[in-house]
Amino acid sequence: MIAIYLLIFIFGLLIGSFLNVVIYRLPREMSVVRPRSSCTNCGKQIKWYQNIPVFSYLILRGKCGECDVKIGIKYPLVELLVGIFALLLFPFDIPILNITHLDLFKFIVEFSIACVFLAHFIIDIEHQLLPDKLNLYLLAVVAPYAFLSFPPHYWVIGGLVGFLGPYLVTLLFLKLRGVVGLGGGDIKLFGILGILLGPVGVINTIFMSSLAGSVIGLLLIATKKMNKDTALAFGPYILVVAAVQIFFPEVFELINPFGFN
Ligand SMILES: [Zn+2]
Repeated sequence: MIAIYLLIFIFGLLIGSFLNVVIYRLPREMSVVRPRSSCTNCGKQIKWYQNIPVFSYLILRGKCGECDVKIGIKYPLVELLVGIFALLLFPFDIPILNITHLDLFKFIVEFSIACVFLAHFIIDIEHQLLPDKLNLYLLAVVAPYAFLSFPPHYWVIGGLVGFLGPYLVTLLFLKLRGVVGLGGGDIKLFGILGILLGPVGVINTIFMSSLAGSVIGLLLIATKKMNKDTALAFGPYILVVAAVQIFFPEVFELINPFGFN
């Protein structure tokens, strides 16, 4: 049994290693498959034994094997987090031989959501961007899951509300005030979340993330960490709120002050 846990954890670490490549390359419009990874400082290609998740970081003591430049702690942390995601989401409670295709599909969907959310979160903070490719992948796993799990009116109306609501409000602000509220990536993400969470669920996401964004934005202005013209990524608020809705629905019920249901 312990071997299965280990296998799933290693699977998570390897996907986490790939997610690091995605997080670095997607916003720089580089291919995520080629070429092989190299040091961002000296350009030296990373050998396979220097590319083992978490362990290589520890053995190299967080430095490039060639030029000694520091490697961010972010890399092993992402690998470790994705390993933990895999352990938390895999259906260990079902005997291995009884795991059905549907159980596996559900695991892939939830694990993909967790991974895309993590990548989106980091990329948006670093580049104020939610890449289309990640949103497309999210749509590709969420849409079939929603088709199989919910009646059509749930995901059709959910997707429309999630996309058109934020889109129209953003358009209105642009026309009236000349300011761009939400980015295109935020609006697309809301649309995909609408397909998964339904119309009521995504309205909750929109209200809660706006509330969280306003409160934290005002706090940052009050403590002079930023001024009102600082560009602020909105994606992280959407992602944290939606993650609580998807993975901890009981907690969301407790903390949601709007109480739409
Ligand atoms: Zn180097």
